Amino acid sequence: MNIGELTKSVGGLTKTSKMNCYSYSLPETECKTGNKLKNNPYSVCSNCYAGKNFYKVYEKTIKPAQYNRLNILLNDLKNWGGNFSALILRKKFKKFRWFDSGDIQSVEHAKEMIKIAENNPDTKFWLPTKEYAIYHTIKNSIPKNLCVRVSHPLKNAVLSSEKYKNHSAVLATTKIIEIDGKEIKVKTNEYINKFIAKYGEDKICQAYKNDGNCGTCEKCFDTNIDLIAYIEH
Ligand code: SF4
Repeated sequence: MNIGELTKSVGGLTKTSKMNCYSYSLPETECKTGNKLKNNPYSVCSNCYAGKNFYKVYEKTIKPAQYNRLNILLNDLKNWGGNFSALILRKKFKKFRWFDSGDIQSVEHAKEMIKIAENNPDTKFWLPTKEYAIYHTIKNSIPKNLCVRVSHPLKNAVLSSEKYKNHSAVLATTKIIEIDGKEIKVKTNEYINKFIAKYGEDKICQAYKNDGNCGTCEKCFDTNIDLIAYIEH
């Protein structure tokens, strides 16, 4: 297959304007753990970016494309993995981000992404996930060029670096206070300041200072960096 045919065979790639590499997106409505978390107001999934802004504006084209990708991989996972490996090899990507929307669908799906990384040792992969049980099943077979970065389910909380080699947190910039019996949302730096005091500013993603753009930063892909905290947006 040529590059065009390979691209079509996996349902197409995505490219977010903030990040200088290609990515892959599935429907956030099919996130296994995310769907359990989304009704919890303290959860990062309660305010999922993949259901708003750009994703909401272009929902009529984005959603069918995401479901098409999902159907392709569920229909023949081995074939999906083989074609994805070949596509990344042919594209000679230096970096590739899994899931600007969506998450791992099964242990078998995670194993295919491991194979894709093994088949492409010159590409750095970033795989953000909240599929904790799947992570523990595959954690001993993750190659060096695949950074599986496990996200804490709740805002303003940090996972253990002993349990999760690479992980991430989300820091809220608002909190709810009660005045005269009414709940009001106010801006706060409380969570950011507490985080910096404990872990240091270099653990905070600096994209918020750069209009959300990554620039040349590749920290999310770096398996030597245990923790990264994102400022909620
Ligand atoms: S830590 Fe770096 S690579 Fe990760 S999202 Fe922030 S700017 Fe981008």
